[in-house]
Amino acid sequence: MAEDCIFCKIAKGDIPSSKVYEDEKMIAFKDLAPAAPVHVLLVPKTHAQDVTEAAPELVAYMLSKVKEIAASLGVAEKGFRLVINTGDEGGQTVKHLHIHLIGGKALGWPPC
Ligand code: AMP
Repeated sequence: MAEDCIFCKIAKGDIPSSKVYEDEKMIAFKDLAPAAPVHVLLVPKTHAQDVTEAAPELVAYMLSKVKEIAASLGVAEKGFRLVINTGDEGGQTVKHLHIHLIGGKALGWPPC
């Protein structure tokens, strides 16, 4: 756990979240400022600053849970978007790896 990391604290249960999935390696919870009707964050329980710092096996594990989580949120069939913001210019505001799972409406492209 990294000091002063909000997602470490959420993963540990020290800060409350609207949890939609949890296992021994990761947690998924609703984003506080949803960009769409469905917007959850998939967060590993171990701290890694971003996707370039995380073990590839951990990222693969998180991706392996996407179908199940998307199905539980009702977006598996119509589709959804995964986003991994990385670094300041990538729009990453929380420096703990997280995968946005966004859906529940038709999403535009490009995103910005
Ligand atoms: P990013 O900009 O990719 O780093 O995304 C960080 C996301 O975390 C943003 O969409 C925030 O709305 C979300 N967020 C920050 N704090 C919390 C929190 N305590 N609970 C849920 N979502 C949060």
